[in-house]
Amino acid sequence: MTNPLLAPWEGPFELPPFDAIHDEDFAPAFEAGLTEARAAIAAIAGNTEPPTFANVIEALELAEGTLDRVAGVFYNLAGADSTDAREALMRDLAPRMSAFSSEVTNNKALFAKVETLWQGREALGLSPEQARVLELYRQMFVRSGALLDGAEAERLTEVKSRLAVLGTRFSQNILAEERTWFMELAEEDLEGLPDFAVAAARAAGAEKGVAGPVITTSRSLIVPFLQFSPRRALREKAYEAWVARGANGNDHDNRAIAAEILKLREERAHLLGYASFADFKLEPEMAKTPAAVRDLLMRVWAPARARAEADAKVLEAMLHADGIAGPLEPWDWRYYSEKRRKAEHDLDEAALKPYLSLEAMIAACFDCANRLFGLEFHALDVPMYHPDARAWEVTREGQHVAVFIGDYFARGSKRSGAWCSAMRSQKRLGQDVRPIVVNICNFAKGDPALLSYDDARTLFHEFGHALHQMLSDVTYGFISGTSVARDFVELPSQLYEHWLEVPEVLETHAKHWQTGAAMPADMLKRLLDAGTYDQGFATVEFVASAMVDLAFHEGAAPADPMQKQAEILAELGMPHAIRMRHATPHFAHVFSGDGYSSGYYSYMWSEVMDADAFAAFEETGDAFDPETAAKLERFILSAGGSRPAEELYLEFRGRMPGVEALLKGRGLLDAA
Ligand SMILES: [Zn+2]
Repeated sequence: MTNPLLAPWEGPFELPPFDAIHDEDFAPAFEAGLTEARAAIAAIAGNTEPPTFANVIEALELAEGTLDRVAGVFYNLAGADSTDAREALMRDLAPRMSAFSSEVTNNKALFAKVETLWQGREALGLSPEQARVLELYRQMFVRSGALLDGAEAERLTEVKSRLAVLGTRFSQNILAEERTWFMELAEEDLEGLPDFAVAAARAAGAEKGVAGPVITTSRSLIVPFLQFSPRRALREKAYEAWVARGANGNDHDNRAIAAEILKLREERAHLLGYASFADFKLEPEMAKTPAAVRDLLMRVWAPARARAEADAKVLEAMLHADGIAGPLEPWDWRYYSEKRRKAEHDLDEAALKPYLSLEAMIAACFDCANRLFGLEFHALDVPMYHPDARAWEVTREGQHVAVFIGDYFARGSKRSGAWCSAMRSQKRLGQDVRPIVVNICNFAKGDPALLSYDDARTLFHEFGHALHQMLSDVTYGFISGTSVARDFVELPSQLYEHWLEVPEVLETHAKHWQTGAAMPADMLKRLLDAGTYDQGFATVEFVASAMVDLAFHEGAAPADPMQKQAEILAELGMPHAIRMRHATPHFAHVFSGDGYSSGYYSYMWSEVMDADAFAAFEETGDAFDPETAAKLERFILSAGGSRPAEELYLEFRGRMPGVEALLKGRGLLDAA
């Protein structure tokens, strides 16, 4: 019998034949894909003809066709609908796939061809997109160490593998700390906690094997406790345990690991010829240099700190009114802030939800895409990988654009969180390939499913990523869709969230699912106002973490990261009652792998751009201004990585973004 993953897909839109694919088909299909890719790469490297863009770069683009096709299906299923067999295969594939990619970047004959093309690029007559693709391929090789030989190359391999071990240990230590610590609560200690927090505390107690409710350091449990519990001594105890994760002097202490990681990253950067690890990491990003990152963070810091200090005074007065002397402490902030929020902006979530049915919010999402980009969505009746997954054909003026799959409900077989991925990316090389784009969420299932406002925002966020994939219009898969700089990739998604805040969108779509009545005006106003609440606090805890991350990777690696952290916070003038969002010994973004090392700033970098980009619409007086939407599509949503991010942004906006729109969005402008 033929393997359905390897046979041609002849159904509608060449969708994967989900009803015919079985778990046991994946391993042989990966095997076939890897064999085919290795043979193709050996043929490219061994080609005796002189290197050309077609016989090196375009050949590389086509070398992994089968592998891409199989991986596109497999990794989507493994994340959205895992089984034991899929998990076992994931574990088995991880080292093999990383070995394969090292094989490619360490292939000297292959790199020599890329380098020859690069050195002679002026004479190749390349289109701008081809020149960019060549540049990015060469950069991939060079950043992996292709220019190194002998002892230096060997040392780089050692450093990378030691870093992989340390990163894994760092995460496992945090997990161990989080598993070990819990605080038992007496029945009277549940005072003030909302029902959902009580239920979570009881469930956590049952899981720990104790009779009563407990608080653990899981964010979803400890944050509500800090918000709602009037018991100050318990809040302090829980808070101190939460922020001490990874720094308890036991077997799971991460402080020495953090120091070793920073030292090895510095060495890696030096081997590759960079002044610091931050310089290495930021080179392919939009920010480019540590100085640019610092400049942005400091422009946000001053107004955020001013707002936080002003808020601290209000909260401290509330503390004193409760008969407690002394300063406001970090374990008091969330409690008094929640009391203040309730007084000033109370919003009844239970009353809100009936206006936010999943069906209504999907319709709102699609309607905005129709008004902005002329896209139309038609429900498809095709086999899916799970009964909850739904598919739509996306068209424009009758032309096929993409297939969009929405898989919205939480289930045991799904990873937590929300994400967007392309089961198949857009490209034109070889043949015109239209994308299959998937949005995965973890909303509670119901009849009908009703969303919180945060859920609705997540729906819009992931759909913004989906637009970046669906509207992609490039020749080469290497730069398709969301294949852009890390500090640029959240722009389309965070930008799309802004349309949920356009009052007419909720006025039109947020209808009570039973009565069809529009959302009351007062509820809508409270909802839209709540977005700026307590942003002084949120911004300060974020920027402090981002500044420490940056300082760790610039210049010489600190021998004692904890001391360095203390110095940076003192220099910043950190408010007494706020601590870093993630302290060093459990700062997983930075130490559990390379992903966000000297990159934690990127969330805020993207927010600066999305706020500024949405202001481009607001300035026209029309949130759906067709001309601005056309520019957004032309220069950002369709462009993928075909040009550097800053050039794309400049084309769209006519200037680089300032921080004013972000400060306004966070309600910090008057604090500046
Ligand atoms: Zn995102």
